[in-house]
Amino acid sequence: MLFRAMSKPWLVKPGSIIVTAALKAKIPLGWLIRPTIFSHFCGGENIDESIEVIDKLAKFNVKSILDYSVEAKEDEEDINEVLKETLKTIEVASDNPNIPFAVFKPTAFASKALLTKASAGSTLLPSEQEELEKFRERIHTLCLAASQKNIPILIDAEESFYQEIIDKVAAEMMALFNRKKAIVYNTLQMYRHDRTDFLVRCLDEAKRGGYFPGIKLVRGAYLERERLRAKKMGYPSPVHPDKESTDRAYDNALTFCIENIDRISVFNGTHNEESCLHMIGEMKKHSIANDDQRAFYSQLYGMSDHISFNLSRLGYNVAKYLPYGPVTQVLPYLIRRAEENKAVAGQTGRELTLLKTEMKRRKQIKKEV
Ligand SMILES: Cc1cc2nc3c(=O)[nH]c(=O)nc-3n(C[C@H](O)[C@H](O)[C@H](O)COP(=O)(O)OP(=O)(O)OC[C@H]3O[C@@H](n4cnc5c(N)ncnc54)[C@H](O)[C@@H]3O)c2cc1C
Repeated sequence: MLFRAMSKPWLVKPGSIIVTAALKAKIPLGWLIRPTIFSHFCGGENIDESIEVIDKLAKFNVKSILDYSVEAKEDEEDINEVLKETLKTIEVASDNPNIPFAVFKPTAFASKALLTKASAGSTLLPSEQEELEKFRERIHTLCLAASQKNIPILIDAEESFYQEIIDKVAAEMMALFNRKKAIVYNTLQMYRHDRTDFLVRCLDEAKRGGYFPGIKLVRGAYLERERLRAKKMGYPSPVHPDKESTDRAYDNALTFCIENIDRISVFNGTHNEESCLHMIGEMKKHSIANDDQRAFYSQLYGMSDHISFNLSRLGYNVAKYLPYGPVTQVLPYLIRRAEENKAVAGQTGRELTLLKTEMKRRKQIKKEV
């Protein structure tokens, strides 16, 4: 029912607006969101609740990545709270073999306005310079903890106009902590047409700097917003003109990473079956063992289980992003999932068909019994 509802744009768009407005007005909607979209896409409201899901997935050798999905914080107290919680996820991961990575969103640790200004190369006021240094320190604290606990850490990517400064800090962290293997992973959104060159530069810089880059590949979740902003502000769109070019860039990036696996560790974050098959093919071509720790596949919890479970059955490394956090706080994440399932031609349809077929199959078995 949930996937069927999400495939209806006339329901998703106004629904997202109404729910966001209701929560802003402090109208309690947990009773509606928790048992439906929240329980499908999230592990729970805290780590303890999520452990139950992690244990369930682990039975099928599917690992989990605890993703404290609270976004875009600006208040110092809130930022410190997210920092503390993210450090806790590293701590928990270090004691749990079913949690192979930690993850964070950079915008949880500085304002988007500051990151945008710094990315544009504008002169910062002394107070902004100070804030930026605090941002760098917070990222350093997380990467240091991850390195000490030997838990690789993924830095998520968001909108392109504040990515430059994040890339800079990520490269700095890789140079510090990826001396023997990838601990820090930066995210490349391959819907951006500049990312293919960026990937090549990442490898060159890593070779020169003598470190091992961690590369998380995704297609990118902010397509509509990127295009809209570019149009509104009158600059060329940073994303590929069509899905085919994004797909091509994505698979070429996978090939590049696998060809350079001696230096690059790759984290393939996708629900695209072709891209998973593509990486399998490249791994086979280069005789890379299915469970080589430098090659991971990942899907979001609640999506594309047919990919995750089949990959793990074949012995590949699979980890699901498992978002958790208070219902009201993870709402932007949930809205993005609903938007994505509405916007991405084929994806919801694919999930829905597979779910229907399986439900039919199970009903048939019951009847026969
Ligand atoms: C484990 C994991 C981690 C993720 N982390 C991040 C992250 O840090 N940052 C982030 O932005 N996203 C992230 N995502 C989301 C991701 O970027 C995609 O939005 C999502 O996975 C859908 O892409 P796909 O490869 O799975 O599937 P597909 O259905 O094959 O591709 C859909 C994607 O193709 C691209 N696309 C669609 N239409 C067009 C078009 N007309 N022109 C150009 N491109 C088009 C868009 O990027 C769209 O999201 C993550 C996803 C996963 C699975």
